[in-house]
Amino acid sequence: MRPILALAFLLTAVCSASAQPFGTARIAPGERTTGWLAVPGGADGGDVRLPVTVITGKEAGPTVAILAGIHGVEYVPIVALHSLPIRIDPAAVRGTIVIVHIANPPAFRRRTIFYGPDDWKNLNRVFPGKADGTQSERIAHAITTQIIDRVQAMIDVHCGDGNEELTPYVSFSADAPGADVAARSRAMALAFGMSVVKVSRDPQRKADATQYTTNTAAARGVAAIGVELGSRSRVAREEVETVQNGLLNVLRHLRALPGEPAAAEKPMFMTASQSVRSTAEGLWFPAVQAGQPIAKEALVGTIRDPFGAVLAEIRSPLTGYVVYVTTTPPTVAGETLASIGVLAESDAAPLP
Ligand SMILES: [Zn+2]
Repeated sequence: MRPILALAFLLTAVCSASAQPFGTARIAPGERTTGWLAVPGGADGGDVRLPVTVITGKEAGPTVAILAGIHGVEYVPIVALHSLPIRIDPAAVRGTIVIVHIANPPAFRRRTIFYGPDDWKNLNRVFPGKADGTQSERIAHAITTQIIDRVQAMIDVHCGDGNEELTPYVSFSADAPGADVAARSRAMALAFGMSVVKVSRDPQRKADATQYTTNTAAARGVAAIGVELGSRSRVAREEVETVQNGLLNVLRHLRALPGEPAAAEKPMFMTASQSVRSTAEGLWFPAVQAGQPIAKEALVGTIRDPFGAVLAEIRSPLTGYVVYVTTTPPTVAGETLASIGVLAESDAAPLP
């Protein structure tokens, strides 16, 4: 093939690849389109479809994915993405913005916290998923192959689940394979503009067991951040706006939108955190509130049996602050009751 022909062929291939729709949502330069991403059914549930909006600019730029509703009753993210598209003028966009409005429709429809209602698995623990797996695994596989594998950056938005009171933070994986992915993810986290940036130090997982959306993205070379803002399935207008403003900041940082991000003045880094787990089945009575400081060995809460007897006193493994705490009574051994975080002014120092 002559060089000029080879170049033309290559350009055609690139253009047609990038013009592939996301599900049924077309890529149309200068337009906002909507559609559905199909997830085939299986033995444990019928077909599922994820609502998707695609906003494409006329100029070249990055392809960025924004996800909400991985957990189906986390409503601040879902409501934030519901009206985010009307705040983005396609004429101002460079590249393509893909918004997955409700990433876990079965959990949304049936209002289940943490888990999918048909396979009782946590969608954010089964990534990258399996094409022939259970319902949550099939959804994860569709998001991995049809969204994550086609973007350069991803933002996965969460909040405190139906039983969780939470103080906000944005997180990135500092141990992402490839220093470049970690650095790009860190820059996105800072651009969001939140005052707490969690530095996730995850052990390297096998590529087929990355569990979380953000780890999955990072393992595939996609810069990614997680956002946590909001509590107990409550929809507060100011929290919805804060999420939207943060997302617009990250899009500006990525040059998908014009302007400069309004980064936080002096963010603190959550350089360590530890989950506090239940040791018994019973009723949980927290002794702390989200955001308060806590000393190592201080009481986090008490588990009692149905008649009032104390089954366990749960104490803090660290001196730090309460990042989130579950606030409703039911508990079973092994489930997370709270998370304690440690803040530092810098994330530059290597951790033990
Ligand atoms: Zn979540």
